[in-house]
Amino acid sequence: MRASRVLLALALAAALAAMGWAFGRIYRTCSLMHPGKVLVTGYCNCGKCCGWERLANGETVYTYGKLKGKPKRVGITSRGTTARHGTIAADLRHYPYGVKLYVPGYGYGVVEDIGGAIKGHHIDLWFPTHEEAKRWGAKWLKVEFVN
Ligand SMILES: [Zn+2]
Repeated sequence: MRASRVLLALALAAALAAMGWAFGRIYRTCSLMHPGKVLVTGYCNCGKCCGWERLANGETVYTYGKLKGKPKRVGITSRGTTARHGTIAADLRHYPYGVKLYVPGYGYGVVEDIGGAIKGHHIDLWFPTHEEAKRWGAKWLKVEFVN
């Protein structure tokens, strides 16, 4: 009797842990908790947002990822365009280059950039200053495709 109770408790704990893990994954990758919505965050050209640093010789290089140590053109998107209001970084498998989106509270934008942490149903909006990017924060929003 006792052994079966312990087994039952263990099975229950394992089931709960598995559910918690699964929910965490779903929340992050599929956003099922926010049906039809996209996680919208903000970024600017700064080294903190874009993962670059200035070396003693004035050169700017990536600080992490596959391009670590390689030259970084500050303010230039991965597509080669100049980052400006309306520039959106996204996961290109979900939102390819050139996709036009309307984001409530921000306006119209075009996908022209990528980001190491921008995966799945998550987009990153460009702001001229770090303060503005921080003020935007992180919101789950219904984003409209324009094209
Ligand atoms: Zn920044």
